[in-house]
Order: sequence, then C-alpha cells, then structure tokens
Amino acid sequence: MNAVVSSPFLPVDGLPPAQVCQDGLCQPASLRPSPASPLRHDWTLPEVEALFDQPFMDLLFHAQQVHRAHHVANRVQMSTLLSIKTGGCPEDCGYCPQSIHYDTGVARDDMMPVAAVVDAARRAQAAGATRFCMGAAFRSPKKRDIERIAQMIREVSALGIETCATLGMLTPEQAHELKDAGLDYYNHNVDSSESYYRKIISTRTYQHRLDTLAAVRNAHLKVCSGGIVGMGETRLDRAGMLVTLANLPEHPHSVPINQLVAVEGTPLAADHPVVDGLEFVRTIAVARILMPQAQVRLSAGREAMSEELQTLAFLAGANSIFYGEKLLTTGNPDVERDRALLDKLKIQAETQAQTDARGCC
Ligand code: SF4
Repeated sequence: MNAVVSSPFLPVDGLPPAQVCQDGLCQPASLRPSPASPLRHDWTLPEVEALFDQPFMDLLFHAQQVHRAHHVANRVQMSTLLSIKTGGCPEDCGYCPQSIHYDTGVARDDMMPVAAVVDAARRAQAAGATRFCMGAAFRSPKKRDIERIAQMIREVSALGIETCATLGMLTPEQAHELKDAGLDYYNHNVDSSESYYRKIISTRTYQHRLDTLAAVRNAHLKVCSGGIVGMGETRLDRAGMLVTLANLPEHPHSVPINQLVAVEGTPLAADHPVVDGLEFVRTIAVARILMPQAQVRLSAGREAMSEELQTLAFLAGANSIFYGEKLLTTGNPDVERDRALLDKLKIQAETQAQTDARGCC
C-alpha cells in the first residue's frame, strides 16, 4: 500500500529528511516542496534545472498542486494590451519590430490621444478584461510623456479596471509619479538569463532592468516581469531567467511567459530556433512552482499555439492571458476564439469583482 496516500509531499518515516516519496519514488525534498510551503527567494540554478528535468507528468502534477494551493482552480484573469505609442524605439532588442535598428515595416506613431486610450480601455472592459496595459516603445519616458500617461492612468483607473504600463526604464521619481496617478502594475521583463540577455540586447544592461524593477517595487507598484522563450537560449538560460525572477526581494505579481513571435526584419527572425511546445509548458510549470502566488501569464505567441498546447499551459499553472485583438504589434487570437476555448475547458474568466476581492497576491 502507498505510504503517502493522503499527502504525497510528506516525508516518510525512516527516510532521510531530505527525501520525500510518492508511490515508491523518492526525490530530494527541495524538488517537492509542500504546495503551500513558504515562499522562497533563495533558489539555486541546480535546483531549478532539476525541476525542469523531472518527468513531464511529475512536473505538471507538481505545478498543478502548487497552483491549487494558491489560486482558484479553473479561473483565468484577462488583460488587454494597447500600444499607446508604437515604433521608433532607439533600443536594439533583437526580437522587437519596434526598434529603429531593424527594417520591419512597423510604422512610427505618435502617442495616442488620451481620449482614444480611455475609449479602448472601455471597450476592453466591456469585452471582459480586468486589467488594461498601456505599452509605449521608449528607452525611457520623458517628463512630458509621464505627464500625459499619468492623465491616461487617472482616466482609465476611474473606469474601475486595473491599470498596467510598460514604458521602458524608469527612474525612482517616475515610478512614484505613476503610482501617484493610480497605476497598479508596471511591466518590465528580464527577457532571459543574464548571460543570454547580452546576446539579444546591447543598448542596456541586465542591471538596468533590475534597477527599474527595484524602482517600481520601491514605489509600491505591483511588478509584472517575465521573459521570452525561443530566442535561441538553452534550458539553462530559461532556468536562469526564472531564478532571477524568483529570487527578487518580492516575487513579481505577474509573470508573463512569452513565446518568441519572429517578425521579419528582426535579427531573431533570420535564424530562429523553434522551441518545442512541451519545453514551453515546462517553463510555465517551473515558473508556477517557483512563484506560487504570481499570476503566470500566457502571453505573446499564443496565436500560434494549438488549443491543446494552451490547455497544457493552463494545466501547468498559467492563470492569466492577454486578450484582445492586438498584442502590441503582433496578432492575438480573437476574443471569440478565446471565449470558445475557455468554455470548452470550463475555465471561468475572472470578473472585476473577483479581481478586486483577490487584491494583491
Ligand atoms: S525597449 Fe521595448 S519597444 Fe524598444 S526595442 Fe526593446 S522591446 Fe522594443
């Protein structure tokens, strides 16, 4: 008889405390924390590599256990992302069609008028989104940009929808100004591991990214930070990226995991290695285990994913999606397709009242 029927994560008498067993299989305790165990900020690369290396079913089972210990099952939060200022960015992120360094055909637009942004937020809210993300292609915003975006934030917040912004690097003062305007979340991805990051972006350093995340955290904004899978990085890089995120002083509240969308004209489109969908799902599962309270978001690249792959990502612990017709400059599955998939899976879209009741993670 199985000795650990009631709780697969409890140590078995007679075994070294560093071991836990399930169905006769014993593994290092560090790989199988209790689903509700305290949050950790001291993950090591070998530990996280070992999580990635688990048998696929064990990894998904583990991630689902952690997920259910911290979140309402069968529920996803939906965010809509609007590009409020597109193209013409001086940075050279190798995946980005908005960089001035690459000829991608993306037009350079001025910042949208405040009224148009508020109107888009109203439509997103009516379609079921509970968070409205405003993205601008900046290295870092200027004073006049912050003033205008603060006005957008005030007016969008007044609709009763959560607000998020992604505007590049921020100073501590700018982070406070956005917070004062009522901003809830700030997105700034670490993109990859520190060592692989240098191969993708040369115009700013990993430390710049971490500095902005610190400014955001210190302004008491909620942090949204994740990365991109499929840029030619190794599994070790994916593990390194997740170690960076999980070992921040506070886990990000949202962790977007993007699949590279290779856009013609960007360096990564020229020779982009496709990452196996199951490896993408493993990345979601490990993110869920390392950052149990975060909303792990299935983000860019979802358009190209089958329903089955998206379903596995939900099973691995993804509980947030980008929703709407446009995801910055790349397509996103349309609202009806998303709704149909959620209906088929009997997954509920989180309502604004549920978002508000959940509050911060
Ligand atoms: S900073 Fe943002 S908008 Fe600019 S090139 Fe990098 S990803 Fe694109």
